Amino acid sequence: MSVVTGPAERSAGPAGLDHFRTLEARQQPTWPDPAALAAATGRLAQAAPIVVPAQADTLTERLAAAGRGEAFLLQGGDCAETFAEANADRIRNKIRTILQMAVVLTHGASTPVVKMGRMAGQYAKPRSSDTETRDGVTLPAYRGDMINGFAFTEQDRTPDPERLEQAYRISSATANVVRAFTQGGFADLRQVHEWNRGFMRNPAYARYEKTADEIDRAIRFMHACGADFDALRSVEFFLSHEALVLDYERAMTRTDQRTGKAYDTSAHFLWIGERTRQLDGAHVDFMSRIANPIGVKLGPGTTPQDALALTERLNPDNLPGRLTFVTRMGAGTVRDVLPAIVEAVTWSGANVTWVTDPMHGNTITSASGYKTRRLTDVLDEVAGFFEVHKRLGTVPGGLHMELTGDDVTEVLGGSEEISDEGLALRYETLVDPRLNHQQSLELAFQVAEMLRA
Ligand code: PEP
Ligand code: MN
Repeated sequence: MSVVTGPAERSAGPAGLDHFRTLEARQQPTWPDPAALAAATGRLAQAAPIVVPAQADTLTERLAAAGRGEAFLLQGGDCAETFAEANADRIRNKIRTILQMAVVLTHGASTPVVKMGRMAGQYAKPRSSDTETRDGVTLPAYRGDMINGFAFTEQDRTPDPERLEQAYRISSATANVVRAFTQGGFADLRQVHEWNRGFMRNPAYARYEKTADEIDRAIRFMHACGADFDALRSVEFFLSHEALVLDYERAMTRTDQRTGKAYDTSAHFLWIGERTRQLDGAHVDFMSRIANPIGVKLGPGTTPQDALALTERLNPDNLPGRLTFVTRMGAGTVRDVLPAIVEAVTWSGANVTWVTDPMHGNTITSASGYKTRRLTDVLDEVAGFFEVHKRLGTVPGGLHMELTGDDVTEVLGGSEEISDEGLALRYETLVDPRLNHQQSLELAFQVAEMLRA
């Protein structure tokens, strides 16, 4: 990579953080103006952190608990956030959906649910092609608002490093609103339960009545016992995104005064995508040097050897909670491919938190031409994930979802059936299809049933 960096960025942090620059980095934009990139990343390297290292350490502990079966992770949000939708309403709806799902899952798992948004930084996307051609015109592919614009014009599609700073500012503002909502009483357990009761009023969801009634009774029981509901008015909520654009992640990395370790302060949790997890690649090298809890997406082509090598490379000290494997195999594949991977890792003694992403292995093109998923496939992959872990005596640690709090029509199915014709109604995503608010809750009820099975 021929990337020019600012002096501030080069000098910050422990040695080796820039080693990734000598390695192949896939899925990076071609910035037209290296000097402008250096100026932008130089400024970012001086900017205030979005999250602080101590919170990242807390999350490592929570994920370690999820790895032991003492907690369950719920991670969710858009495939790609957009600058235009980073407003209070959309953020609130997303948080509300995650909190509602978390109440249902807490009941199903009988353990605390660790809540995490794909939020406040999910602005960069890997693409299958560098370019897109329409009507004979070829332009760079849309790579996320952090890099270029979605509109099919030369100006929008040209990568602009100023967008890195815009992503930082909008992510900071988002993180601020997330904190306000999750600390300020919005997350009150009784209120969240009331929202779930609203969902249950729709007769389409009658099949979940038993679980809903049980939650109702549990909350009344807690109340009768004098539980301190005031203490339940705020919740821990963590932020995460795919660490794709290394110029951004490197610029946001700071040395923690307490420990002397480097933390990527752009999010609590960062993950390496399926397309950038090469052992000798730049992403794995960079992520091996930061102290945040991290994840790696593992697709159906993953071999047990690949997984083992990643545990050695990314968690040589075998710290519980440091490394999460987010498996995204596909409903038809998970039962065949996952067992050998889990067995190999378990026999090696490596500590890994296992999470299912039932979205990315189940993407199809509908007859009407939309990129979509079937809710039944999504649920089937979750079921397969639980079956495999149950059979092996290992721990299913959580769920990684693409969802929104809004009433979109992007995924097929659900009790309020979205059909192929229905997709056109409110298909709003710029990249992958998301479960809408109702489908997300329905999924939570079904997963809660699986957790108890
Ligand atoms: C994603 O999470 O949006 C994504 C691109 O996933 P994956 O790396 O698993 O394909
Ligand atoms: Mn996606």
